[in-house]
Amino acid sequence: MEGNVEMEPIRYYSTNGRSPVVTFREALFQGQPPDGGLYMPTRIPRLSLQEIWGLRGRPYAEVAFHAIRAFLGGEIPEKDLWQLTQETYNFPVPLERVVGRCHLIRLDQGPTASFKDFAARFMARAMRYFAAEEDGPRVILVATSGDTGSAIANAFHGMEGFTVVVLYPRDEVSLRQAKQMNTLGGNVIAVAARAKFDRLQAMAMRAFQDEDLRGLNLTSANSINWGRLMPQVGYHLYAYVALAEERGETIVDSVASGNFGNVTADFLAMRMGKPVEKIIVATNENDEFPAFLETGIYRPIRPSRACLSNAMNVGNPSNLRRLFHLYSGKVDRQGTVHRMPDLEKLRKEAVGISISDHLTRLTIQEAYERYGVILEPHGAVAWAALKRFLGRRMEETLAVATETAHPAKFPEVLRELGVEPPLPPSIEGLDQRPSQAVEMGGSYEELKELLLSLKHRI
Ligand SMILES: *Cc1c(COP(=O)(O)O)cnc(C)c1O
Repeated sequence: MEGNVEMEPIRYYSTNGRSPVVTFREALFQGQPPDGGLYMPTRIPRLSLQEIWGLRGRPYAEVAFHAIRAFLGGEIPEKDLWQLTQETYNFPVPLERVVGRCHLIRLDQGPTASFKDFAARFMARAMRYFAAEEDGPRVILVATSGDTGSAIANAFHGMEGFTVVVLYPRDEVSLRQAKQMNTLGGNVIAVAARAKFDRLQAMAMRAFQDEDLRGLNLTSANSINWGRLMPQVGYHLYAYVALAEERGETIVDSVASGNFGNVTADFLAMRMGKPVEKIIVATNENDEFPAFLETGIYRPIRPSRACLSNAMNVGNPSNLRRLFHLYSGKVDRQGTVHRMPDLEKLRKEAVGISISDHLTRLTIQEAYERYGVILEPHGAVAWAALKRFLGRRMEETLAVATETAHPAKFPEVLRELGVEPPLPPSIEGLDQRPSQAVEMGGSYEELKELLLSLKHRI
């Protein structure tokens, strides 16, 4: 645990540029700056190649500690942060070689069997850590296209002083995803809404701006919260230090992308000093970003297309604003570009690849038959994109694709293909538990009423 060079502390500014610069703690609880932008660090910390190389062979929690510490500017003392990362990352992070030097990183071993546990568990513990000094209970409001909600709900479940309201599109999540949210009970309220994810996300954003809801201490836990994005740097760094064999060699990363929290964290890891050949932004048929990289024209997809990899059905990724900032560009929430990012640099460092549902199915089947590897739709998108990018270079290129959810979360899709995924302990018994979901339409007024009713309950 040797200390790194102290520079001026990192603070957080708004991508809209009209809100004060804040500390990590403030960014964590505010979720979103008052001007409606997103928080970004005033500088990106650097790890030297030596520091990175020094992490080789270290356990996941330790690598995560180093990645997260670099961003915290001393706001959580090292001893406490060490404890916190140990508690947060108490599950395995397997790297699986598939062919040549191409790997999968299985980010699905946490309590809700998706990679969102990495960020949600850290965020919840960081909030609890800082909340000791805060007054009053908090309501965590989160709109989810599937896995965010269960990860957040699980991370806060039973945590005193917090109530979680999780909004999900009834018709766009799998049965098991829904059960992971609506069977918890206690301080978790699961709302099954008849609306698409994009709409629910807009409703949640509106609630945070709503003066009438001030008294609730509404706190965001969506991927827009910096505290939800930053911890993901940990596994992007980990994959590299676990796999690199030559000091300084580069890696190709393929990241299954929806709202771009995952992939933005990889861009941050690269800026921190991780040697990267290329970041593949792998999307399903919601190909607005791959199309942008190709044409230079950004066109959000409205409404988003409903694909098999349902957590990636996003037609205008919320973290695009952060990604643009990393390349000196500016885009607003609606997807209007105000300043073009440095496209040349972006194209050099990244590529966007869109994978159809048809190819997603084929990829699941092929990976199973050829390599005995079980993929689910999100990981299959990342794997298919990696294959397309590398072509014949798969043998010799160091590469990793993110498997972001456990295949058992998508039994319907896999069964159709004759693949029967084994159940992880976290999912066993889930199907039999009764749903406690609250049903809702798709209007903001309904959400507001529900939130207001909480005032008397907490
Ligand atoms: C959320 C999610 C994604 C997309 O991640 P982003 O950070 O929103 O890009 C991919 N796969 C799974 C399984 C997810 O739950």
